[in-house]
Amino acid sequence: MRVIDLINSSQQTAFSFEVLPPLKGTGTDALFRTIDLLREFDPKYVNITTHRSEYVYKELGDGLYRRDRLRRRPGTVAVASAIHNRYGLTVVPHLLCSGFSREDIEYMLLDLQFLGITDLLILRGDKAKHQSRFMPEENGYAHAIELQQHVNEYNRGYFVDGTPIKAPGTPFSYGVACYPEKHEESPNLEHDLAWLKQKVEQGAEYAVTQLFYDNEKYFSFVERARAAGITVPIIPGIKPLVKLSQLTVVPKTFKVDLPQELAMEADKCKDDEQMGALGVEWCIQQCKELIAHGVPSIHFYTTSAANSVREVAKAIF
Ligand code: FAD
Repeated sequence: MRVIDLINSSQQTAFSFEVLPPLKGTGTDALFRTIDLLREFDPKYVNITTHRSEYVYKELGDGLYRRDRLRRRPGTVAVASAIHNRYGLTVVPHLLCSGFSREDIEYMLLDLQFLGITDLLILRGDKAKHQSRFMPEENGYAHAIELQQHVNEYNRGYFVDGTPIKAPGTPFSYGVACYPEKHEESPNLEHDLAWLKQKVEQGAEYAVTQLFYDNEKYFSFVERARAAGITVPIIPGIKPLVKLSQLTVVPKTFKVDLPQELAMEADKCKDDEQMGALGVEWCIQQCKELIAHGVPSIHFYTTSAANSVREVAKAIF
């Protein structure tokens, strides 16, 4: 079943979560442990992130350096397939513009089709660390919407060079990202919503939000999206705080505010254990309120937070 059908057919608020592919060379044990921790809560689907390659500099001595290309977290397609085979779960690999050419994308779509994986989350992706702003790959795409158009053409039965696909398989279904506190590069929320609307008009069946800690921001975003004519499900993305350092790291990394009440409580925490307990408590309250507002589904970000997500899921699902 497609993600949109799984959400729409769920009798109660659906549970889903996101995992990262393992760091290169670390194997799948930790990844499977995360899934084992959470599978009893009946996840409707699991997202697998994608990470572009970066440049790293190796010191060769005598003041010389070599620039190497490194993908720290490769293997999204293989990890998605491994999860699907091991657990029978619907998997949603992320498809990115960032770091990938049109040909790379086409071969990824072919691999996914061979594996019977047809759900995607389509994203532009983060900029490379060495870039000051996002730069498309040579012969790649600048925005998620262009990547959607590529997938749409593939679904219509055409390769990127316009030649017909002899045996087109099940078409891909997909969602996109959205930002209740606006995307960092957007001049304002209306502008960001106008592009979200275009992404929906291009075929996005749902949108998943950036993480947030203030439900009012989500409710107001959904209201503005509806007023702008965006009617697809807007799935809240949530992550419990687990470490004291996140008080400053989360706003900086994800461009979101922590509500004053949460920030004041976090100030009182003396160590990560106390912060983790506060994070779980806050997240449970967030989920209860979201469910009371009738959200179709709640999507959890599990990076470094699988145990906390389990605590929240135990209380909610
Ligand atoms: P876009 O939709 O391209 O939007 C980027 C900006 O451009 C926005 O300001 C938008 O308003 C504007 N815009 C959109 N279309 C156009 C257009 N055609 N012309 C001009 N302006 C336009 N990053 C990763 O690297 N890997 C992941 O796996 C990953 N997973 C994520 C999952 C979720 C649920 C979310 C919310 C984010 C994820 N990200 C991931 C981060 C995401 O890639 C970044 O936030 C990225 O900067 C924007 O991606 P996007 O798809 O929203 O981009």
